[in-house]
Amino acid sequence: MARYHGPVCRLCRREGTKLFLKGERCYTDKCAVSRRPYPPGQHGQARIKLTEYAVRLREKQKVRRVYGVLERQFQKYYFDAARRKGRTGEEMLGLLELRLDNIVHRLGFAFTRAQARQVVRHNHVLINGKRVNIPSVIVKVGDKVEIKPSSRNIKELQASLAQLDKRPTLSWLETDRANFTGTVKARPVREELNEPAIREQYVVEYYSR
Ligand code: SF4
Repeated sequence: MARYHGPVCRLCRREGTKLFLKGERCYTDKCAVSRRPYPPGQHGQARIKLTEYAVRLREKQKVRRVYGVLERQFQKYYFDAARRKGRTGEEMLGLLELRLDNIVHRLGFAFTRAQARQVVRHNHVLINGKRVNIPSVIVKVGDKVEIKPSSRNIKELQASLAQLDKRPTLSWLETDRANFTGTVKARPVREELNEPAIREQYVVEYYSR
């Protein structure tokens, strides 16, 4: 599946908030959102009032960019969520959170989702003992995600694990750092997914307009 290859700090500046796409740099004063807190491009500093449609469009783009998913695949998550029983917005976020690349990132094996995606693509990850190299695979509750033994000495991976304490704690995930494994204990908890803040209702309104 394709992915965005362009400069990522522009995406944060466009959305006017930190999307944490660059790992450690996002927590320093080198962050582009702190340095240039206005949208990129020639008219970035022009004063423009967003229409109601534009507000919803921006929210949709923001969520899509946080999870590193292109439009076609993102729509699939939305329509899949809309068919489910619960609230569409929460179901959609739940699906995005359970993507394997996101889980690898959340468990602390990668600084960013983009890096996690690479870890998965390069065959470093096992689910319940089986190699899985597709970042969009949806992990199930109870699944054990682990870094395969021969890949545990990768420097970036170890550095990311060492920084895990700096990230928000998630009650539905458990990381066993010593064994490079993690378990999905429950469905994602909406209240814990707020970095950056997401208004999923706007995404639902965008697609149901
Ligand atoms: Fe760049 Fe990270 Fe700052 Fe976004 S949050 S602008 S990705 S440094």
